[in-house]
Amino acid sequence: MKVKETDLGTFKVCPGENGKVYYHDSVYGYLDSEQSFTMYEVSNSSNEMVVVNNRQHLAFVSYPDGEWVTTGKMIPRESGIISDPERVFNHGEPVRFMIPLVLEICERCEGKGTMGNPAFNGTSIEWWQESGGPDWQEDLNEYMHGDLYDVQCEFHCDQGKAWGIDWTYIIGQWKDDPRVINDYATEIRQLVSEYYDHMAERASEERWGY
Ligand SMILES: [Zn+2]
Repeated sequence: MKVKETDLGTFKVCPGENGKVYYHDSVYGYLDSEQSFTMYEVSNSSNEMVVVNNRQHLAFVSYPDGEWVTTGKMIPRESGIISDPERVFNHGEPVRFMIPLVLEICERCEGKGTMGNPAFNGTSIEWWQESGGPDWQEDLNEYMHGDLYDVQCEFHCDQGKAWGIDWTYIIGQWKDDPRVINDYATEIRQLVSEYYDHMAERASEERWGY
């Protein structure tokens, strides 16, 4: 989905929990720090973490000028037929799209670093009763209030700390060049929107067993 062009000048600050800040606008909705998106992209090995102006950034690395080039080398085939010259992919110069990050309390595990096993999400009391042993009530209580069934946090956060998009920093730069920074914000929102499309697609593929 293509997102609407952004005008950062219209967003108002809304304080959230744990000292988090959101920016809201009645046309665009919320500018969230989007930890789910950020932590997913941080763990993607084709991206890089870089420090610019003493600030941590996530760099999306792409090769827009990549092209297939002919090496001129012939590939001998067993059959004796001389093949076409070998072609290799030349990546060209990498382009880095940078997003400034801010370290926050992880929203997924609420700072614990671990979370309840999602395999049990949506289970009913009857399910615990039927699938558990005689101690099913204790097990259920442990699942709801304890940490025995906990697994590593889905965001792969660092012991409860997770990266988010630093919109405060981006909005701070906005006055210097509103047009450029608005386009930049639109590009970030486009990446976030594509991430959610991708996740929705993955979830529906899993549901249908592909
Ligand atoms: Zn977490």
